[in-house]
Amino acid sequence: MPSYVELELDEKRVKEKPYNYSGIVEFAVEKHFEFESYKLDYDSPRNPWIIGRGNLSNLTFGGSARGFVIFRSPLDSFLHISSLGGGGIPFIYANLQALLILGRAEKPSVIFLKRKEGKLEWKIEELSKDELFSFYNKENHVFSLEKKLYEKAKEFFEGLYFRVFVVGPGSIYSKFGSLFSSISEKEVGNVFDVAGRGGSGSSLFAHNIVGMVIGGDGKEDEELVEKMKMVFKEELGDNYMQKMIEGTKKYREFGTFKANYSSYKNKLPLFNWNFFFLEEEEKSRIWEKFVDSKLLKDYTFETKTCMEKCVAACKKIERYDNHKREKVDYEPFHALGALLGIFDRERIAKLVWLADSLGFDAIYLGFFIAGILEALESGKISLKELGIGVERKELPCLNPKVYKEEKERVNFEIAQKIIKKIANGEFGFKSIKEFIEKFDVKDEMLFLDFGEKGDLTPNYYYTLGLVAPILMHGKYFSDYKPRYLPPEEYAKVCYERLIKELAIANAGYCRFHREYLEPILDKVMEIVLGIQNYSERIKEIAKKLLEYKRKVGIRQEEPKGKLLKIVNRFLEENNANIPANEYFKRFERKYLSFFENSAE
Ligand code: SF4
Repeated sequence: MPSYVELELDEKRVKEKPYNYSGIVEFAVEKHFEFESYKLDYDSPRNPWIIGRGNLSNLTFGGSARGFVIFRSPLDSFLHISSLGGGGIPFIYANLQALLILGRAEKPSVIFLKRKEGKLEWKIEELSKDELFSFYNKENHVFSLEKKLYEKAKEFFEGLYFRVFVVGPGSIYSKFGSLFSSISEKEVGNVFDVAGRGGSGSSLFAHNIVGMVIGGDGKEDEELVEKMKMVFKEELGDNYMQKMIEGTKKYREFGTFKANYSSYKNKLPLFNWNFFFLEEEEKSRIWEKFVDSKLLKDYTFETKTCMEKCVAACKKIERYDNHKREKVDYEPFHALGALLGIFDRERIAKLVWLADSLGFDAIYLGFFIAGILEALESGKISLKELGIGVERKELPCLNPKVYKEEKERVNFEIAQKIIKKIANGEFGFKSIKEFIEKFDVKDEMLFLDFGEKGDLTPNYYYTLGLVAPILMHGKYFSDYKPRYLPPEEYAKVCYERLIKELAIANAGYCRFHREYLEPILDKVMEIVLGIQNYSERIKEIAKKLLEYKRKVGIRQEEPKGKLLKIVNRFLEENNANIPANEYFKRFERKYLSFFENSAE
């Protein structure tokens, strides 16, 4: 019988309970309704914080054992779904579907949870804040804590498999701290995955939890694996492995970094999105000079997986002359690279390492820093006001029209200082929204505005699909191709993408496997798990999520400032004769109609 663990930190008790849900998202949404978390503030420790795996997870089919984290986001107050590669594996060993955390530990604490010979064992180890910060050493921060936990956990796990999850100073001093987990003790800080978006780590820290160690002697469900083989054979043919290999080619052969720069050409947001205001000829010149000839030059990598037996093997690791090896992914490397006018990969790797090791969501951080750099450049704020040293003669530059290569060093140095300042708890602003309240930099800072409730940032694609009023932001729960469609038509496309993406997430699968899995997922769920009409069930989950959002009272504001400028530019380039606000109003009306099943 599948089960999950409810850990109540106030009462220091654990209960193992039956788990009867179509998947991890459905479980989390149900639990948030059951605990009426919509009545609570986003940072109340009475909000359930959930980590777990999907019902198809196993150790045979790569992509099936992704870890999913579902929590109240400290950024927009809504429920957020974040995930990390291979994070479901320790739950297979613990023979559990999920861990649900409630309440707050008295001191920063680490949870140890194991299954041995069918019996569940657990303990909570408290650390004083001084002890915790002594574990975050100067160089490796989050990863030195992770290393310590690998050492500490050995006795408890008695030679059994376990995996460690940790948060860093970024979760203590900002709303955009993430949850990190290296694939093994040997690879701590080298090959790791991040439940990056929405502030999963900051949200965990609201429970005073800084780490979790999970594992045991559980085995994969052999019957489930056999059924999966059978349905894959039926749906994809005898050579189904070949179909999986073909369907994941982009991630295996190029990785997201190379694949995106090569395929999106000129449609990616360089220089804090100011790139899009250039004429096409100028764009091509800059792209050639800084992206093709510098950013992508001599890019070579080793390939790893997230610990799943995965044919996509998306983890690309690069070695540097003056820096350790680094995992190169498009989003963080763009956020702390081309977006900030930095094109030297080793320099970018240093910033990404700083952001990761301090435990931040690098994507959110990129938006934040880019806005600050541009506001420094325009003179709206000064370094002195930010408390980042004395004024310097050299200002940063994110204006591609006047940008010179030597500005890269200036942008890099200031970015480094900002990151360290936030992680030291000296910055005074835990999010973009807090910053905007003090400094009027809306024309420089791009973010999605959720009024008093907060903000979020989209991912780095030039598209309306990630900034329109959709259900959940900061993810790929929408269309993100750089294309224009009339609002009603586009609302349909974005809703359909939402349902497909949510279906993959609820099943606990890695979305890099979507090409071959999406078309057959309903069938897989029916034959392997006996779940009928899976897509319809997903639509119900989407509807519940919308209901939750309404109960909290979260509303996305109309685009203003920099976001409005970018949206207008996009509309103008596509000869769309419609004002941005009207476009989004019509989009939203139609988009919401799909949730009510009242669309034509
Ligand atoms: S594509 Fe990458 S993250 Fe996804 S399962 Fe494979 S190795 Fe893991």
